[in-house]
Amino acid sequence: MTDVNSPGRPRIQEVADGIYAYIQPDGTWWINNAGFAVGPQGVVAIDSCSTERRTRAFIEAIGSVTSAPVRTVVNTHHHGDHTFGNVLFPGATIVAHEQTRAEAIAFGPARELPWWNNPNWGELPLEPPFLTFTDRIGLWVGDQRADVMHVGSPAHTTNDSLVWFPESSTLFCGDLVFNGGTPFLLMGSVTGAIDVLENVVRPLAGGTVVPGHGPVFHDDEPVTANLDYLRFVLDLAERGQTAGVTPLQAARDTDLGRFADWPDSERIVGNLHRAYADLADSSTYRPVDTSAALADMVLYNNGEPLTCLA
Ligand SMILES: [Zn+2]
Repeated sequence: MTDVNSPGRPRIQEVADGIYAYIQPDGTWWINNAGFAVGPQGVVAIDSCSTERRTRAFIEAIGSVTSAPVRTVVNTHHHGDHTFGNVLFPGATIVAHEQTRAEAIAFGPARELPWWNNPNWGELPLEPPFLTFTDRIGLWVGDQRADVMHVGSPAHTTNDSLVWFPESSTLFCGDLVFNGGTPFLLMGSVTGAIDVLENVVRPLAGGTVVPGHGPVFHDDEPVTANLDYLRFVLDLAERGQTAGVTPLQAARDTDLGRFADWPDSERIVGNLHRAYADLADSSTYRPVDTSAALADMVLYNNGEPLTCLA
């Protein structure tokens, strides 16, 4: 599918003075949210999009608000739905955590991928972040400060950063929260995400929160819902390891209960792969074999490529 208005029309939502969320329904695989802030120095974009068409639509949406150029793009993490479109901001400095750059380079550019129904990616050569930080940076939009902060440990990925506007209590939390969708931790850490959601995200979630997928929210209920899911995954992993079954088998043997209605439910398999690794060794971080886990997710999905409507 290549129509950016399907499965829903993207929309701009002004969440604070000069700060906008760019919400793309329905938030399933490769359909992300982004955002931007407009100041006298120009525009700061928060993330790009997965396909050429979706990123061009995002740029058009920015152009409907201001004729000022995008001079900075902040990537919240390395995943392609947030970074593949970076190359379409040729005048902008692309900023992110140093591991975001490393992981974006390791994954490579937009291309046909074996585990999904591939969208029309368009022409998007790799453009990784080229101004990197290790802890945090201060970014000014006029006289409004934004703190771009690495969350301190693996969570959704190894390299998640928040963009926090303290003056208006506005938080762009990247994919640390999927509002209405299934969280995905394969390239991060289930235990790490629980810690980060409780201790880093929740304390900042009292104002306006723009998640990486799903609608903007104004209380911490979606944070709680994501935490409930993560604890469910962790409990399942503990029982699966005790029983000596694989993550795929543990997923197949499980009734997802109230989480079954969340889109992209096959993520349970990747999340269990990750949780098994978290439980096996909490002293050092070890990445899991993501290709093997994604292949298991396809098996769980009756052998069908995962649904992608981007
Ligand atoms: Zn992501």
